[in-house]
Amino acid sequence: MAAPATIHPMTDARVTDRLGRPLRDLRVSVTDRCNFRCVYCMPREVFGRDHAFLPRAEILEFEEIARVVRAVVPLGVRKVRLTGGEPLVRRNLDGLVRLLAGVEGLDDLTLTTNGSLLAARAPALADAGLRRVTVSLDALDDPTFMRMNDVGFPVARVLDGISAAIAAGLGPVKVNTVVRRGMNEHAVADLAGHFRGTDTVVRFIEYMDVGSSNGWRMDDVVPAAEILATIDARWPIEPVDPGYRGEVARRWHYRDGGGEIGVITSVTQPFCGDCTRARLSADGQLFTCLFAASGHDLRSLLRSGATDDDLADALRGIWSDRSDRYSELRSLETVDLPKVEMSFIGG
Ligand code: SAM
Ligand code: SF4
Ligand code: SF4
Repeated sequence: MAAPATIHPMTDARVTDRLGRPLRDLRVSVTDRCNFRCVYCMPREVFGRDHAFLPRAEILEFEEIARVVRAVVPLGVRKVRLTGGEPLVRRNLDGLVRLLAGVEGLDDLTLTTNGSLLAARAPALADAGLRRVTVSLDALDDPTFMRMNDVGFPVARVLDGISAAIAAGLGPVKVNTVVRRGMNEHAVADLAGHFRGTDTVVRFIEYMDVGSSNGWRMDDVVPAAEILATIDARWPIEPVDPGYRGEVARRWHYRDGGGEIGVITSVTQPFCGDCTRARLSADGQLFTCLFAASGHDLRSLLRSGATDDDLADALRGIWSDRSDRYSELRSLETVDLPKVEMSFIGG
């Protein structure tokens, strides 16, 4: 007769927060700098010539970022997204990609970029082990796009970046489009039409009240329901089941088989209940919510000789204590609270 199975003590190190949400994704901001001045993110009046960006010494080294990633994987993280600021303005980013691609247990390594430098960099990033990219693009016509990026950057070069990424094996590409009332509503049909019939998925994002500098007003938000109605009137769509818990975009596909689109309804239908995301700022603070006013200082820990166990304990403590659900509580009062900027914490 077979011996009874041994019952092992709990070895699962995965962590959940106070609301029972696991830690699954880490967004890593590799720089607070950007070569664009998108009006909804880094408005020129605030991020002008004399803006004080982080000094070099305060920014995490690649090896420090890799230590944090190695520490969060046993806690449950499966996906890392590199972001910023504009991640491709950080020198030798492929070096970081290479380090992270070697971390055992990580299923997905991706990058969100404005696409401006992607055409030249896609092959090296793919070679270093990047899996996929998300490219932000807010319009298909130059006048609108240039008004939104506010540095006169043309659409064609972002489209070249998307093509280069696909050619390098970084597809299917996702395109992020922030829709802001009075600025680019017409881009909804333009972008949907352009990418229909390809496997590039456009995700329309409700303009959010992140940071304190973009002068957000509810009137500037185009609700996802309106975005979907615009598309449905042209090309009928129907909802698709979410791929996994914590997926931020609600997915829809064209009834005629023309592919898929997504909407990110952070304002009108918040998804805090499923939010499994932590964010590491370029200077090494861990934020447990996009709308947090302050982060947890991991850099001091990393630079004061902490062991990997110390780091893991600190991360476990931070996540177990988390109860953030800003978007569900969003109200007139919370909109005016001090918040960290999106370009600093990473979108
Ligand atoms: N620079 C890169 C880019 O633009 O893709 C990565 C960083 S950016 C902060 C990440 C994402 O946040 C972008 O897709 C951007 O459109 C989005 N974003 C920035 N400010 C936003 C806002 N106020 N509301 C909604 N999305 C925003
Ligand atoms: Fe830069 Fe991205 Fe913010 Fe635009 S959205 S200003 S590209 S960080
Ligand atoms: Fe997650 Fe905070 Fe956004 Fe809610 S508001 S979905 S908790 S990042």
